[in-house]
Amino acid sequence: MATIRSTFLLLGLALLLAGSPTTAAGPAVLDSDREALSLSPYLTYGVDPGDRADAAAMFSKAERGEFKPLPGGSTAFGFTQGAYWFHGQLFNRNSTEQRWLLVLHYPLLDNVDVYLRYPDGRIEHMASGDTLPFSARSIRYRHPNFWVDLPQRTEVELLVRVASRSSLQVPLAVYTAKAFAELERDAQFGIGLFYGILLALLCYNLVLWLSLRDASHFWYVCHVSGFGLVMFCLNGLAFEYLWPNSPWWANQAIPLSMAVSQIAMHQFCRVFLELKERQPWADKVALAVIGFFVVMGVASFALDYRTVVRPMTLAVFPGAIFILYLAINAIRQGYAPARVFLTAWAFLLLGTALYASVSFGLLQKNFLTEYGIQIGSALEMILLSFALAYRYARLRGENERLVHEHNEQLERHVARRTSELSTALEQLAEANQRLRDSNRRDALTGLFNRRHFRDMFEHQLHQATEHRQSLGVLLIDLDHFKEVNDTHGHLAGDECLRWLGRCLRDHLLEHGALLARFGGEEFVVVLPDIQGERLLQVAEQLRLKICGEPVRYAGSNIFISASIGAFLVRPGPGISADEALHQADDALYAAKNRGRNCVHAADGLTSN
Ligand code: GH3
Ligand code: MG
Ligand code: MG
Repeated sequence: MATIRSTFLLLGLALLLAGSPTTAAGPAVLDSDREALSLSPYLTYGVDPGDRADAAAMFSKAERGEFKPLPGGSTAFGFTQGAYWFHGQLFNRNSTEQRWLLVLHYPLLDNVDVYLRYPDGRIEHMASGDTLPFSARSIRYRHPNFWVDLPQRTEVELLVRVASRSSLQVPLAVYTAKAFAELERDAQFGIGLFYGILLALLCYNLVLWLSLRDASHFWYVCHVSGFGLVMFCLNGLAFEYLWPNSPWWANQAIPLSMAVSQIAMHQFCRVFLELKERQPWADKVALAVIGFFVVMGVASFALDYRTVVRPMTLAVFPGAIFILYLAINAIRQGYAPARVFLTAWAFLLLGTALYASVSFGLLQKNFLTEYGIQIGSALEMILLSFALAYRYARLRGENERLVHEHNEQLERHVARRTSELSTALEQLAEANQRLRDSNRRDALTGLFNRRHFRDMFEHQLHQATEHRQSLGVLLIDLDHFKEVNDTHGHLAGDECLRWLGRCLRDHLLEHGALLARFGGEEFVVVLPDIQGERLLQVAEQLRLKICGEPVRYAGSNIFISASIGAFLVRPGPGISADEALHQADDALYAAKNRGRNCVHAADGLTSN
C-alpha cells in the first residue's frame, strides 16, 4: 500500500507543481498560547543538485533571497536528485518554553541535517535520518527529531538539509514537550490498534493454515505480513523496533517487503478467485506480475534503491486495478465468495483514495483522510478473513454435497446389485429346483422315476404304519408292448407310454396317488388310505380306460392293454417296501398268466 501511496503522492506532486507558488510568510512565531506549529508555511527551499554546498553557503544563499517558497505549500517532492535545503526563521514569544522538539514527520529520509544559527553567529548542527543508527535521535521516536534551543524573544534561523534515495517529503513541525507527549499518545494508540488487528488476523489465519493446510490461508498470512511490514517501515517503527542498529536493513526492508506483499497479494488473489480454473488468461497475467515482483525483490539486493522501488511503485496501481477487475469478473461469473473479496478490496482502495485525495487537494486533512490507508487496510484484512471463512464454508458444503451424492449413488448401486444378486439367486434356486425335479422325474412321461418313487414309497409306508392306515399298490405292465414297438415303431411306443402317463395322472392324482414309471413299460401306483375293494375298483376302471380307447399316433390308432397286479398293505407293522412291491409283482405275474388285460389281486386282498 505504501507503493500506492507513493504513486498518488507522485501524481499529487505533479499537480501541485503545476499550481502557482505561494510566498513564505515571515518568521514562525511561537506564541505563549502555542504549543505546536507546522513549519511548512514559513519555509523556503533551495536545491543543490550536486550536493556540494555546505551550510554556510546555503545560509548566504537564503539571505540573498535565492530560496523559493514551497511549491503550493507542499513539502512532498517525490524522487529527487541531490540535496534539498529548507530555510526559515523561528521566533519564540512563549514565556515558559525554551526547549522545543523539531520533528520531521517522514521516517524514510536517508540524511537530515539541522542547522540553527543564533543572532551571535553561533551555528549548531544536528544530524539524523535512517543512515544513522536509531540511537542517534534526540528522543526514541519513529520520526527524525531534534531538541532545539530557542531563547525567548530571539529570532533563530533554521536551515535543514535533506537528501534521500526515497521519495522526498519534509513535513517539519515544532512542539513543546507536553504538546508532543499528548499528540503522540493518540497516534500511538491508533497505531497499536492497527497493528493489533493485523497481528490478530495474522495469528488466527496462521493457525487456520496450520490446521487446514489450505493455500489461500498461507498467502493471506504472507499478504498480511508483507503489507504489515511495509506499513511498519513507512511508519518508521521497523527501524525503531526491528533493526535500530542496521541502517542498511532499514532501507533494504522497504523494497523487500513491498515485493513480498505484492507477490502474496497476487498469489492470494490467484488461489482465492480460483483463476486457473475460472479465468485462465488472468492467471497467466497474475503469474507475470508475480514474476516481476520476484525479480525486483531479488534485484533490490544488488541494484540501487530507487532503481527497484520506482518501477515497483508504478506497477502497484495497475496491479490493484487488475485485481479489482478480476473480482468483478468473478462475481459476473457467479462465484459468490468474490463478493466479499471485492468489498474488502474496495475498502482498501477507498481508504487509499481518501488518503491520496488530500495530496490532490480534493479533500481536507481529517481523521478519515489521514488514516485512510490504515482504516481501509484493516477493514480489508478483516473482510478478507471473512471471505476466507465464507469460501471455506462453501467448499465444505460442496464437499458434503458431493459425499452425500456419492453415498446416494453408492446406495443405489448397492441396491441394484443386491436386486440383481437376489434375482440371480432366485434363478439359481429355480434351476436347482428344476434340476432336482428332473433328477426325480422320468423324462418321457413326466412321472416320478423309480429311485424317487422308492424314497417316497418308504416314506408313505412309514406314515401309513404310524397312522394305522392301509396302502394300495398297483403294478401296471403293458401287454405285448414289444409288438407295439415292432408294428408301429419305437416313437409310437413312446407316445403310448406318454399317453399312459397322462391317463394315470388324470384318473389317479385326485385320489392322492403316488405315480411313477417303474421301468420300461411298467408303472407303479400307490394309493393311500384305501380299502381292498376300492383298490380293485380303481384298478379295474384304469384297466378299462387303457384298453377302452386307442392311442392316436401319426394318423393311426394303436390299441393297447395292460395287466395290473394289486396288493394292499394293511395297517400294522411288518412289511417292507421290497416285500410290498414283490407281492404286487407276483400279482402282476399272475395277471399275465391269466391271459393279460386283467387285474389280479395278491392273496387275501379282498378278504377284509
Ligand atoms: P408282456 O405282455 O409279456 O409284458 O410282453 P411285452 O412285449 O410287453 O414284454 P417284454 O418285456 O418282452 O418287452 C417289453 C418291451 O417294452 C421291450 C422294449 O422294447 C419296450 N420298451 C421298454 N421301454 C421302452 C421305451 O421307453 N420306449 C419304447 N418305445 N419301448 C420300450
Ligand atoms: Mg409288457
Ligand atoms: Mg414288461
